[in-house]
Amino acid sequence: MPAQLKHLPAALRFQALGTQFYRETPTTPMPAAIVVAWNAPLAKTLGLAPQNEQLQLADYLVGNQTPQDSTPIATVYSGHQFGINAGQLGDGRALITAELTDPQQQVWEVQLKGAGPTPYSRRGDGRAVLRSTIREYLCCEAMHGLGIPTTRALGIGGSPQTVWRETRETAAVLTRLAPTFLRFGHFEHQYYRNNLEALQQLADWTLQYHYPECQTAAQPYLAMFAQVIAKTAHTIAQWQAVGFCHGVMNSDNMSILGLTLDYGPFGFLDGFNPGHICNHSDDTGRYAYQQQPQIGLWNLHCLGQALLPLIEKTDLLAALSQYQTQFESAFAEQLRQKLGLTVWHEADWTLVTDLFELLQGAQTDWTCFWRTLSHWMMLQNDAPLLDLILDRTGFAAWLTRYRARLAQDLQTSLERGRAMLSCNPKFILRNHLAEIAIRQAEDHQDFSEIERLGACLAQPFDEQIENNHYADLPPDWASTLSVSCSS
Ligand code: AMP
Ligand code: MG
Repeated sequence: MPAQLKHLPAALRFQALGTQFYRETPTTPMPAAIVVAWNAPLAKTLGLAPQNEQLQLADYLVGNQTPQDSTPIATVYSGHQFGINAGQLGDGRALITAELTDPQQQVWEVQLKGAGPTPYSRRGDGRAVLRSTIREYLCCEAMHGLGIPTTRALGIGGSPQTVWRETRETAAVLTRLAPTFLRFGHFEHQYYRNNLEALQQLADWTLQYHYPECQTAAQPYLAMFAQVIAKTAHTIAQWQAVGFCHGVMNSDNMSILGLTLDYGPFGFLDGFNPGHICNHSDDTGRYAYQQQPQIGLWNLHCLGQALLPLIEKTDLLAALSQYQTQFESAFAEQLRQKLGLTVWHEADWTLVTDLFELLQGAQTDWTCFWRTLSHWMMLQNDAPLLDLILDRTGFAAWLTRYRARLAQDLQTSLERGRAMLSCNPKFILRNHLAEIAIRQAEDHQDFSEIERLGACLAQPFDEQIENNHYADLPPDWASTLSVSCSS
């Protein structure tokens, strides 16, 4: 076990807030712990020693051991779920067990997801299942590889212990990290409880540790809120650019740092369909791909409502009114890079809107299209690109317009192609890839695919010819896969 995990500081920064914000909760042991996954590259950047004593590592990963003298905590939050105020929720199966400071002096909260029941478990068992834990582990690191703000995944601990979901499933525990796991819902909780002092205390704590640059602003709370808006807009713009669908954008799953948080029934677009719903339980498509930007704003309104006691309403509304522009300019920036342009012109929106229509018409694979376009840029060979679009005449006409647009740009095709290959990924975590890793783990206790796939997804822009099979389109059997909130 990385020796350092044993000797982390006993007190967590969050504990300074007091017990209105959390409950000390021990982890619940699991029998016969094993290591399912260990993110050695991340451990290295955190300054943790290489994995040596397997057995002890497993005990840390499932929570049988926690850092010396630490008292794990479960924090309380509320939130709006599917548009409805759900009241108190809280860390029902997550415990912050430690804090560690990496060599760059960044402090990380270490959270075990699935380490047993907490005072906020409601009717849940406090456990996570192996299947969803593998999905979250892989996706955290895939998103990080794509350059998208996200919580990180350090490892998975397993055990023969089973839990009931729709069927009997293997339990597992994910170790995940973030500078803070604070959600919009933490603020909503104190607001709806009318704990205005606690609300201010939480805002001050967040300013101190996570938005210190806002402390000297004329209106620190407003400056911080404006930052949260900007970060949220940027992260969602990146989601849209890679075709990531979160699936459960409830306000309790929204990070105060704009991190992608709580991976459940997420999915990446295969064929381009703006109305794509990745969450099987989302009957109305509230969280469909094309809804995500506006849902981000809706959730920011929830946060703004909770901050009303601290910020003037007119200021809150003025800050919120910036969101749309911020999202659009962040998304335009993504599209500019994807198209290999050096500057973005307002008229380029028409070019992309027309492209989206062509892609939608043919349900062209989103990732495959952009990667092929990047290669086309280098080789100027139209055939592979035209093969991806049903309406060949329409697409040929679009290509002519795109060529004309490129002619206004100074870069050479080679420079442009290189830049495009470094922002249009070859590899994304398609559901079937995760499923293969999950089946090997569940059926054969073979965890090697998690490692192989994880290593590939960590470098999604590299050609990695030996991993071409991970860039394949989904096989037919993948169309029957469904993911829902039950995990
Ligand atoms: P999620 O859909 O994972 O974001 O969870 C929504 C809420 O339900 C959070 O408060 C979770 O902590 C809680 N929750 C989900 N699954 C469980 C479980 N198995 N045991 C206890 N609480 C859970
Ligand atoms: Mg959640």
